[in-house]
Amino acid sequence: MVTDKIEVIKGDITKMVVDAIVNAANTSLMGGGGVDGAIHRVGGPAILEDCRKIVARQGGCKTGDAVITTAGNLPAKYVIHTVGPIWNGGNSGEQEKLANCYRNSLALALEHNCHTIAFPNISTGVYRFPKKEAASIATNTVKQFLAGTDSIKSVLFVCFDEENYQLYKDLLSA
Ligand code: ADP
Repeated sequence: MVTDKIEVIKGDITKMVVDAIVNAANTSLMGGGGVDGAIHRVGGPAILEDCRKIVARQGGCKTGDAVITTAGNLPAKYVIHTVGPIWNGGNSGEQEKLANCYRNSLALALEHNCHTIAFPNISTGVYRFPKKEAASIATNTVKQFLAGTDSIKSVLFVCFDEENYQLYKDLLSA
């Protein structure tokens, strides 16, 4: 069952020992606050160096897309940077863009032979996506992706706050 491969954790994504952790980045790829700040702080300058190379090559990252870099000093092997949508009332394609973040991150993980991957609650911080709707999109998109491949063995949803943690717990036990 695909749900057997999904786990909900409350904690700090920078501590996760997995093949890839996902960063809720911004289009500049030059770092920011929240989970992005934590990943660059703990991972060290090698991550930003890789980001700069990507920017030189393709000029940043569009909303819903994903790019991959080293994980520097983090215990993970890679960081997959994806750019969540900024919530703008829900009529600007935010839902589809958020689903694309999860889909494109998993596709990139597959391409790089990652079998274990950890996600933060993309867009639910300063980008203000409603948490319940974001959790529902995240879990449905991941379940759908896992149903189409055997290569991904484990997906962790790493929740930083209690509200997200409870939402994910409820959705995945239903
Ligand atoms: P966004 O701009 O996509 O909203 P934020 O970083 O502001 O990105 O928030 C995304 C989510 O990441 C929020 O739910 C926030 O609580 C969470 N978060 C912040 N720091 C960490 C961390 N170290 N590990 C996991 N999640 C984190």
